[in-house]
Amino acid sequence: MDGTAPQHIESYYATSAGPIRSWPQLDRDERCEVAVIGGGLTGVSTALNLVESGVDVVLLEAERVGWGASGRNGGQAQTGFGGEIEDLEKLVDSETARALWNMTVRGLDIITERCRRHRIDCDLKQGYLLAAAKARNMAAHAEWVERAARVYGYTQFQLLDRDAVRREVASERYHGGILDTGSLHLHPLKYCLGLAEAAQAAGARLYEASRVERVTCDSIPTIHLAQGVIRADRLVLACNAFPAPDAKEIGRRIIPVGTFICATEPMDESRAQTLIPHDIAVCDDRHVLDYFRLSADRRMLFGGRESVRNGAPANLEQSIRRRMLRVFPQLGDVAIDAVWGGQIALTRNRFPDIGRLGPDIYYAHGFSGHGLALSGVVGEILAAAIKGDQRGLDVFQRIPHRAFPGGSALRTPLAWLGLFWLKVKDLL
Ligand SMILES: Cc1cc2nc3c(=O)[nH]c(=O)nc-3n(C[C@H](O)[C@H](O)[C@H](O)COP(=O)(O)OP(=O)(O)OC[C@H]3O[C@@H](n4cnc5c(N)ncnc54)[C@H](O)[C@@H]3O)c2cc1C
Repeated sequence: MDGTAPQHIESYYATSAGPIRSWPQLDRDERCEVAVIGGGLTGVSTALNLVESGVDVVLLEAERVGWGASGRNGGQAQTGFGGEIEDLEKLVDSETARALWNMTVRGLDIITERCRRHRIDCDLKQGYLLAAAKARNMAAHAEWVERAARVYGYTQFQLLDRDAVRREVASERYHGGILDTGSLHLHPLKYCLGLAEAAQAAGARLYEASRVERVTCDSIPTIHLAQGVIRADRLVLACNAFPAPDAKEIGRRIIPVGTFICATEPMDESRAQTLIPHDIAVCDDRHVLDYFRLSADRRMLFGGRESVRNGAPANLEQSIRRRMLRVFPQLGDVAIDAVWGGQIALTRNRFPDIGRLGPDIYYAHGFSGHGLALSGVVGEILAAAIKGDQRGLDVFQRIPHRAFPGGSALRTPLAWLGLFWLKVKDLL
């Protein structure tokens, strides 16, 4: 590709990923068994699973592989969903809720297995803390730890009181929390690129700078790009927060919400260790939450702040810095080296929306901020469904999804009001 080729946005991840390989732009018509639109974790995972089971796959990415949320995120791969399990239990029967929970645990196993099998060096570490921002949240956390073991068979949660949390995070802000020793954190761009390399090595054809403009479906799906046309027996839409071409019906079920991260300058080992002694990932339990962890080179990667407007909010660096100093006032002298953001795709109920649009088109989006672990299991499920085993897909399709209200003109203002209300609830 020439000098006008798309690039990854500036972020700590892009500068620390090492040499980032590029894939060619599609420049001719092609035929394949499965075409995947979107080169994030969902698309790449689906392509990898398919190609490993002998399917001929073409993956089309408008920008660069990992350019979207997958290469920018907080790097926290945890059990569970964006929505609470007690809300899931109101939407589906108890057996389905258990199957869905188990899939989130499977999502973590997939990360570990993939890193080992494909030798992906992505700074993988274990441990995640859900920190209680209010003392009164602790009762619900205690109940969930007990129910997770009894009902869901998950025994890797430990309930921490205020003092125990203080031993995990050098902050006075938290009243306790749940330590999940099964959850992980990692460098997401390295991970996504590693999966893409593995897919290519197994025979998938990957194209970057190849934006799909239109999809038509006569006898088979036909995918139209400026540079060529792909005919495929099956199509997977893995565009997440970006509008999938010719799929308005599912587009209305998600809202893109911006979330933002900063990376501080590197700290020396002893200072970093005093902040998060066991090097776990941390997220608080508010609606508009803070999430943070240390990078492999001991920077604080601190995320938070949400926005439904297009583009970054004004004074982004100052506002993220303010949030970080509220948690870690002792970081006042530490400079911020990079600030970036991206969009998560939120569904109304905060559970992912995975399904089919007709017999030949599959889609997955709406991970609601929890796609790192879920995209792996969804890739497995979509690949299995395409190969004829619908069981996993059936389970996800039992989650009911509705469009956001308001039509195209009112959706963003209404989402802004919703977000504002959540911020108010956080203050109560
Ligand atoms: C700042 C931030 C922090 C986050 N933190 C976490 C976290 O800590 N833990 C967690 O689990 N999740 C987190 N998330 C969410 C997580 O990153 C996503 O759920 C996950 O990456 C979704 O992967 P995806 O492949 O579905 O989407 P994406 O990675 O967004 O990929 C979609 C791709 O489709 C491409 N595309 C779109 N339209 C077209 C087209 N017409 N033609 C060709 N290509 C197209 C886009 O260019 C893009 O690369 C975070 C997200 C953000 C933005």
